[in-house]
Amino acid sequence: MSLPKRRTGKGVTLRRGQPGFDAAVLDSSFNGRDPGRRPDILVQANNVFEVIAAVKHAAAHDLNISICSGGHSWNQNHLRDRGMLLHLGFMSAIEVDVAARRAIVEPGAWCGDLDAQLRRHGLFFPVGHVADIGLGGFLLQGGFGFGSRKFGLACENVQGVDVVLADGSLVHANAQQHSDLYWAARGAGPGFFGAVVRFHLQLHARPKVTAMQSQIFDMQHLDEVVRWADRVGPEVDRSVEFQFIITRQVPLMGIFRPGIGILSPVLADSWREAREATAFIRHSPLRPLAARTAPLLPMPTTWMAKLGWFSLFPAGSRWCADNAWLTAPADDVLPAIHKVVETLPPAPAHALWLSWYPPAERQDMAFALESNTYFACYGEWKEAAGDESHQTWAGDMMRLFEPHSRGIQLADENLGKRPARFTTDRNYVRLQQIRQKYDPQGLFRSWAGVLPEQQAQQLSP
Ligand SMILES: Cc1cc2nc3c(=O)[nH]c(=O)nc-3n(C[C@H](O)[C@H](O)[C@H](O)COP(=O)(O)OP(=O)(O)OC[C@H]3O[C@@H](n4cnc5c(N)ncnc54)[C@H](O)[C@@H]3O)c2cc1C
Repeated sequence: MSLPKRRTGKGVTLRRGQPGFDAAVLDSSFNGRDPGRRPDILVQANNVFEVIAAVKHAAAHDLNISICSGGHSWNQNHLRDRGMLLHLGFMSAIEVDVAARRAIVEPGAWCGDLDAQLRRHGLFFPVGHVADIGLGGFLLQGGFGFGSRKFGLACENVQGVDVVLADGSLVHANAQQHSDLYWAARGAGPGFFGAVVRFHLQLHARPKVTAMQSQIFDMQHLDEVVRWADRVGPEVDRSVEFQFIITRQVPLMGIFRPGIGILSPVLADSWREAREATAFIRHSPLRPLAARTAPLLPMPTTWMAKLGWFSLFPAGSRWCADNAWLTAPADDVLPAIHKVVETLPPAPAHALWLSWYPPAERQDMAFALESNTYFACYGEWKEAAGDESHQTWAGDMMRLFEPHSRGIQLADENLGKRPARFTTDRNYVRLQQIRQKYDPQGLFRSWAGVLPEQQAQQLSP
């Protein structure tokens, strides 16, 4: 089993053809697949001055810029042909102001590192569920973190961003200044048009209890589990992430044969509260069908995130992923879910059902598209020989859900292969207007694919 690698040493600049160039470009990506696309120049920036110099160089030499921070874009959004790859993964400082409950983080910092630091101070931020996700991409796309049903999307806890713009200037954007840029930085994800070098975060008191409730079913009970999840979803307390995975096996999570694993973190202020909030799983009418119902297990989020590394998301593998916000009831989507099960690649490939049930209102920001139920497919394989047969699996599966979906999360986007709606049409148009203002020449690369009708919206009066 390989663990994720930390960026160590000093970042360097390499040009196409130089020794080490290919390896350094591919090393920027969590996904071990080589899409064959290469920039002309790779700049691994060590500080904001190097970012500014790189952006000015790119503008002067007509090089389009793609950016990566933690490199966890499933579909390797930052690996484009030609231009400059600006790698911000070497900028990973985390500063915590305990008294003010604020943090300033650089984009290459890992979600797990922020969580571990905050834990020491009794503070909390809704970080992503796997430790080595970069904060850069995670925060820009929305950020579905631990406790996000209670504390909001991670991006709703971003108070400001420091951005290097296309003209090389460094600006601070928040609710008062460059508020349009701040609006865009909360949801534009891989279509953001500037290099964010620092995020200013609002922190919370750490919930006193963090725990995991799990329950495993054999695959023959799929229909019952999906229908039950759909029924109880609206009532689930906001402290619980009610979700299940469908997989062939994940021994570390107690799934030894094809089945369904409910893996629900709960963040509460007392053990009693945590038990009450998760009781609907332990005492559900489906319990007699379960292969195993575990007791509620105390577990720090830092461990949960590491469990993700070991069990579901091994480093160095090749991946495809895609997703949908569902709008139809369980019975309408079950035929597509059956197809997912029939074609599921070997473990740790899996599909995820998340009962999301967003709040009635959110902040005004670029992120604006969600629904009550989230469904995603994550295909994994080890060898290049499997690329041809596996790389379209997730996209092919999610096409089946299109009649029952309103769009996608940018977290698990597959826009290069399957363009889909990722925000409202109104917000899409506004994003394009703000891009036009800050990056009129289109120096920074945009989303890898956009629906033709969403593009047309932009032209409408
Ligand atoms: C194993 C795994 C688990 C995941 N779990 C979760 C989860 O629990 N919750 C969730 O919400 N998402 C999750 N994701 C999705 C993840 O949050 C997104 O892929 C996110 O973009 C990753 O951020 P990154 O910095 O690591 O990725 P990168 O690949 O570096 O960034 C993705 C894109 O964001 C843009 N970008 C990144 N940094 C900057 C910057 N500093 N300035 C401007 N643009 C930038 C670029 O366009 C880049 O291509 C997961 C992904 C993986 C692979």
